[in-house]
This record gives sequence, structure tokens and C-alpha cells, in this order.
Amino acid sequence: MTTPTAYDVVVIGAGIVGSAIARELSGHQLSVALVEARGDVGDGTSKANTAILHTGFDAKPGTLESAMVHRGYHLLSDYAKRTGIPVERTGAILVAWDQEQLDALPGLRKKAGDNGYHDCEIIDAAAVYADVPNLGPGALGGLTVPDESIICTWTVNLALATDAVNRGTVLLTDHRVDGVDIGADATTVYTSGGEVTARWIVNASGLGADLVDALFGYQRFTVTPRRGELIVYDKLARALVDKIVLPVPTARGKGVLVSPTIYGNVMLGPTSEDLQDRTATGTSEAGFDFLLGKGRALMPRLLEEEVTATYSGLRAAIDNVDYLIEADTAQRYLLVGGIRSTGLTAGMAIAEYVRDQLADAGLSLTPTTELPAPPQMPNLGEAFPRPFQQPDAIAADPAYGRIVCFCERVTEGEIRDACHSVIPPATVEGLRRRTRVMNGRCQAFFCGAEVQSVFDRETDQETPR
Ligand SMILES: Cc1cc2nc3c(=O)[nH]c(=O)nc-3n(C[C@H](O)[C@H](O)[C@H](O)COP(=O)(O)OP(=O)(O)OC[C@H]3O[C@@H](n4cnc5c(N)ncnc54)[C@H](O)[C@@H]3O)c2cc1C
Repeated sequence: MTTPTAYDVVVIGAGIVGSAIARELSGHQLSVALVEARGDVGDGTSKANTAILHTGFDAKPGTLESAMVHRGYHLLSDYAKRTGIPVERTGAILVAWDQEQLDALPGLRKKAGDNGYHDCEIIDAAAVYADVPNLGPGALGGLTVPDESIICTWTVNLALATDAVNRGTVLLTDHRVDGVDIGADATTVYTSGGEVTARWIVNASGLGADLVDALFGYQRFTVTPRRGELIVYDKLARALVDKIVLPVPTARGKGVLVSPTIYGNVMLGPTSEDLQDRTATGTSEAGFDFLLGKGRALMPRLLEEEVTATYSGLRAAIDNVDYLIEADTAQRYLLVGGIRSTGLTAGMAIAEYVRDQLADAGLSLTPTTELPAPPQMPNLGEAFPRPFQQPDAIAADPAYGRIVCFCERVTEGEIRDACHSVIPPATVEGLRRRTRVMNGRCQAFFCGAEVQSVFDRETDQETPR
């Protein structure tokens, strides 16, 4: 099948970054296509991270990443309020476990200030334990970061992509880009779903960004998939910790943290391991041993709790210390590369930056005066009301009173709504990210068949017998 339409801009990759860019550009008088290799949006790195809305306190000052995270924090916080993306401002505490780390705290506070964040405070060991009573023994002091927050990464991606589609973006899933033909006025992009033609191409393909970049003749960077494995503990563990507990960061990253999740669990991770395989999103025994060792020191009581799930995500690490966002005016092509560990937070700011780069490169950008309102997203956050808790909603629509997934208390009404939304799930895995279904203790053991059956009914598919 071919898609012959010529667009003004094709954005490759429907993760958080590509979706944010498509949303931003389609707020202008432009035709935009969002082209995604997989069958759904938000099925790459954006679905499997630690889901923290960062203030950017620990970024490298003066970098593009620092500026994007700082601005992205404010943009996404505001957007979350307007769309119903759940956010909890839990705050974070960075804990020093030895004298060297304690000595590093003043420098980290100064760095936070250089990054535009001025609310960090150094506290002594007694204050650390008052804040996190279940912390393991041996903490010497800490640095507070009151505005670090937890967020639902799935809803962020879906909201941005839905907003983009509502604004006119054409979403083309199952379109893996594997070739380009750059003409004088337009570029034809060859994909597994057919050809797409556009004046400008934006490469926001995450782990695949260097491969797409090579199609434009570049050899300027290599993506190394940096795996982060995580352990998710049962909701009964949630009482143990009410803020994000961070280690002192190192050159390799932010280190292993303990954090509440927006779904009411507690998470331990991530690891940081460079791999070759860009699809290696499995977990490993070595990773768990490492995390359990860290967890035992950080919060021994956490290890007494039951594990609900484990997962891993791949950071698109590159051999460049900063984000790599560059426009090539001659080929009407823009690269967004190396959005490693902060793209959930920075995505909306990156989208603004890309818009400005495209304008500088000659793309005419006239804002659309009447835009649709931002989408109202279903709430997946444990701290905010969900349909099963709302008698009025149930009275108006009894499907919100029929629970299908008992661990996460997801109702038939929510599954139905997701299946008929602007970007419906292609599979029950996609449904999981839209509703929390099958995410709880039983991991679909009890609800899996019922979920599949409702999904099949609502999407007009036959349930296999
Ligand atoms: C363990 C871990 C923890 C993290 N924690 C945080 C955090 O707490 N806070 C934070 O802000 N950030 C965090 N991040 C980083 C954040 O998740 C990423 O920066 C962000 O998700 C990147 O989004 P993206 O859109 O660039 O990439 P992706 O989400 O990977 O999207 C890229 C898309 O491009 C598609 N694609 C690839 N190649 C092609 C092709 N040839 N044709 C068409 N489509 C293609 C892919 O299928 C994919 O859907 C973390 C990352 C990891 C791995």
C-alpha cells in the first residue's frame, strides 16, 4: 500500500519526542504525518522508564539538555494539568552514604542553581531519616529537591499523540522507515507500510536515530542501547516511602533509586548496562542481583515486600555529551538524537526547539488560530479518582461499575473507552498502557482472558477459542 500524499513535514518516531514535535508543528498551518515503525504510539523507550518529571537540578549546566529539561519540566507540568495526566509532586531526596558524597552536596546544590533550580537544601542525617524513616542505616546527610515529581509516562505519550491527531496530524503506524529519496523539493520516505512524501523530514526515532540519519548520508554518531532494569514492588510497599530517594549521580547516570510510582507501587532501579542489541528489553538475573544488593542497603524493609513485576527500558545513549539536534537545510532534514535519560521531561521543550530550528532553516510557520482543546485523558493515577470510585459516573454508565481487572480495579467502561479513543490500542499490551489493566499482582493470571474478550468485542476481533 502506498500513501502518496505529500506532507509539509514527516516526523519519524511516535515516542514522546516525536509525538510532541508532531503536536507542536500541527499547531501551525502545516500538513504533518507522524510515521511509526510499530503498531502503536509510545511502544519504545517512552513506555519503559522511571517516569520522573525532572527539575533538571543535576543536568550539566550550559548544555542544551539542561535548558530543555528545565523548560520541559514547566511545559509538561502545565500540560498535565490541562489534560489530566497524573502527576504527584513527591519531591526527592538525594542521600550521601560516605564522606566523599557528603562533600559533593554543596557542589550539587550550586549546580542545581546553575541549572535554574534554586530550591535544593542540604540537610543532616537526622533530617534525612525524619523524611525517609525506612532508609537503611549509614546515611550521612542529603540534598532535598522538593519539585521532583512522579508522572505517568504512558499517558504523556498518548496525550501528545492524541493532541497531534486532533490538530490534524496523520498518524501512520506500522510504517518502518528503511529508505529515502531526496528530491529537489520533496523527499520520498520508503517504509514497510508504503511511501510517504514530504518537504521536511524530522528524525525522532530514538534507538533507531543513527540508522535513519545514515539514510541522509551521515555517520556522525552511534546509538548504544543502555539498558535500565527495574523491579516494581507491591502496593503494600507504598507506605514505606513517599518521596523519590536518589543516590549521588555519577558520570554514568543517575544511579539506582527507590521511588513511589504514580500507580501506587514502589520501584527500585534502574541498572545501567551498555548493550549491542537494540531490542534487548528483557530482564536479567545479573541485573536483579545488582538491584537487590543496592536495595538491601538503601531500604532493607523494601526487600521484604512482594515483587509485582519487573521490566527494562533502553536509553538511546550516544557518543556525544549533549542532545544532538541539528537541521540540514540543503536536505530539508532535522535530526533529534541522543535523548537518553530525560526525554520524558524534555519532550515538549524539544518540540519548541525543533519548531524554531525549522523556522530558522526556512520552513514557514504560521500558527493556527483555532486549535482543538487539549484531550482529556483518563486518569491512571492512584492518588486521583478513578471511575470505580465515582458513584455518579457508575449511575450514569454502569460499565464503570463492572470491574474486569481486580488488582488494578479497571472497569469495562474504561476498556471500552480506550478501544474507541482517537488512538485505540492495537493489542492488549497497548490497552495495558491506556488503562492499567493486567498491571497488578496477578499480572493477568486472573483477568487476562476477560480483558482479551472485552478487547476483542470492542475492537470487533474474534476471540480465539
Ligand atoms: C531506564 C530508563 C529510565 C528513564 N527515566 C526517565 C525519567 O525518569 N525521566 C525522564 O524524563 N526520562 C527518562 N528516561 C528517558 C526517556 O524515557 C527517553 O528519553 C524518551 O522516552 C525518549 O523518547 P523518544 O521519543 O526519543 O524515543 P522512543 O520512545 O524510543 O520513540 C522512538 C520511536 O521511533 C520508532 N522508530 C525507530 N526507528 C524507526 C524507523 N526506522 N521508522 C519508523 N519509526 C522508528 C520507535 O519504534 C519508537 O516508537 C529514561 C529512560 C530509560 C531507558
